[in-house]
Amino acid sequence: MGEFLHNCSDEIPEDTIMVPHGSFISYLSLDFIENIFSVPMAGNKYLFKWESDRHLERKWLEGAGIKIPMSFENPLEIDRPVIIKLFGAKGGMGYFVAYDHEDFERKIKGIKGSYQIQEYIVGVPMYFHFFYSPLKRELELLSIDKRYESNVDAIGRIPGADQKHLGLSPSYSVVGNFPIVARESLLEDVFDIGERVVKESQNISEKGILGPFCLETICTADLDIITFEISARIVAGTNPFVPSSPYTYAKYGKDISCGRRIAMEIKDAIATDSLKEVTT
Ligand code: AMP
Repeated sequence: MGEFLHNCSDEIPEDTIMVPHGSFISYLSLDFIENIFSVPMAGNKYLFKWESDRHLERKWLEGAGIKIPMSFENPLEIDRPVIIKLFGAKGGMGYFVAYDHEDFERKIKGIKGSYQIQEYIVGVPMYFHFFYSPLKRELELLSIDKRYESNVDAIGRIPGADQKHLGLSPSYSVVGNFPIVARESLLEDVFDIGERVVKESQNISEKGILGPFCLETICTADLDIITFEISARIVAGTNPFVPSSPYTYAKYGKDISCGRRIAMEIKDAIATDSLKEVTT
């Protein structure tokens, strides 16, 4: 894709605006995106390094002052169930759970490359799709999804006694997405978390978050929302909400998907001669 874009950059019409997505960031180098590719992007391309580097991502979430899972730098410090996340893994592929330090050492054998050891949060995964409008200076909740992950979402279908015989341990490869509507009383916290993340984005990058972003969270039995990852752009979890979601329908009274919301912002920016405020 990088080579293709390199070769055709000059032929891309001048009035093009690119909407960046996950594959775009995975397959192109950050240097190319930030310094070479000159087509304007709907979003803040300078935040992509913050979502791609687990250390920077953590710094962003810590700076926002929201609840995040503990991280273990030294495996000897593991004192609770943890999830091991391989750097550069796509869609949870290859992640595994360890119950203590010995279990970790057993399972990490033969695994090459860097990884992060994170506290395993027990609860319901909820992925909040927000949209921050720099024109209206307003945060919107567009939709919420839950991923369908193999085999962790399949293990519960096998009785406990049989699980033991099968020697199953959970893996987290994303295979699909379900829509969720959150318990209403959670929404105040959800907006508080989203607003903190937007505020911190403005401290780490001049324009801050522009447009869609996703917070990956787990909601515990105490209704605490723990955020473990951020995507500073549109994500695949918005796909179940074409053409609409209950949240956008409630706000706009008509069908609005994430893609359409991005288009609305661009149109508003063109109408008010403020395209520079919504692009980088
Ligand atoms: P990620 O690649 O960070 O999006 O994570 C892939 C999947 O791993 C998530 O969708 C969750 O099901 C699971 N996961 C990630 N981090 C944690 C955590 N700290 N505790 C429990 N499950 C997690």
